[in-house]
Amino acid sequence: MIEAGENIKYTSVVCLMENIVNRFAKKWIHNLAIYEPGRPLEELARELGVDDMSDMHKLASNENSLGPSPKAVESMKHAAASMNIYPDGGAFYLRRALARKLDVDADQIVLGNGSNELIVFLSHVFLNADRNIVMSDKAFVIYKMAAAMFEADTIVVPMRDYHHDLDAMVAAVTPDTRLLYVSNPNNPTGTMVDNEAIERMMHQIPDHVTVVFDEAYIELLPPECQPDTLRYVREGRNVFVLRTFSKSYGLAGLRVGYTISTKKDAKLLQHVRQPFNVNAMAQVGALAALEDDEHLEKTRATVQAGLRQLERGLREMKIEFVESVANFMLVNVGRGRETFEALQRLKIIVRPMDGYGMPEMIRVTIGTELQNRCFLDALKLLLNERTVNT
Ligand SMILES: *Cc1c(COP(=O)(O)O)cnc(C)c1O
Repeated sequence: MIEAGENIKYTSVVCLMENIVNRFAKKWIHNLAIYEPGRPLEELARELGVDDMSDMHKLASNENSLGPSPKAVESMKHAAASMNIYPDGGAFYLRRALARKLDVDADQIVLGNGSNELIVFLSHVFLNADRNIVMSDKAFVIYKMAAAMFEADTIVVPMRDYHHDLDAMVAAVTPDTRLLYVSNPNNPTGTMVDNEAIERMMHQIPDHVTVVFDEAYIELLPPECQPDTLRYVREGRNVFVLRTFSKSYGLAGLRVGYTISTKKDAKLLQHVRQPFNVNAMAQVGALAALEDDEHLEKTRATVQAGLRQLERGLREMKIEFVESVANFMLVNVGRGRETFEALQRLKIIVRPMDGYGMPEMIRVTIGTELQNRCFLDALKLLLNERTVNT
């Protein structure tokens, strides 16, 4: 039996050990920010003390509201029985299928445990304490966090009317800049830069800067509206195009992303990649999802209809928003964090945007027709309460 006294002794020994461990860790590690992901539904259900999650909606992480491709689910069921075997470290079938689809060579493709991991690989390869990255002030925060992991600085360039100011970004480049990130469409603004602006940037960008086009949402656009950045890869430029199965393909839980680059640049990432970074289930699921054009079409149609539904609803309530081409939208509710918390009490999870310097905004993911309606109704209720109370 443990007496109370011993318990205290034990606790103090643990504390002491933690101090020792902390003392030997690299000092600057303590200063790294920890990413705050969208809250899981289960967590909110526990907090609200409810078991039934059927009327709760997570519109916080830009996931696919239709779920994964049914074909991917079927393939993964079959694959479950062979999970005693290590994955194919080279992901032969998935890379071959991607290469065919994109009309590139399989050696130009590197897979990651989500595109997040590839952003860390890029930082590993290109960054250190003497170097920096360039990005917009309201772009995906992971770029900056991954740069900080390698003690690199981030040069932040203000957006113009919620769009990347590519000319200003090129102008911000220094001799120590190694990566320039263009997320397109951009998260969290939902806006896009077009071929013309990209071409102007690519014309001016100096050789020592590698451009990363993060196209996490690109498949949500009709093919004729997708900017053609692969042409820069074909031209042999220092460019990585970053894509993912997390959004359009509805497989965020599996963690599969990939880069397309020249073979020479792909090889750089291979040096820092662990052999089994993309697990066997993920390879199977992604391969099947890639071949399910029908699910992708349905996803596109659902997102387009959802965007129109939210735009209509918000205009009716005279609430400002930023026009989006992706599966999420910035909504100006005045007090973002307060609205985020109030919506949670109404069983809807969105994302507050104070961390991105937009305390007046929330970001809401486009859901199904029903989910969008629930969101609009909840917002209406909150705004009415606000008018009554003030
Ligand atoms: C969601 C998102 C990703 C995808 O990350 P994964 O690690 O592939 O899930 C990448 N970039 C941006 C801008 C995103 O919004």
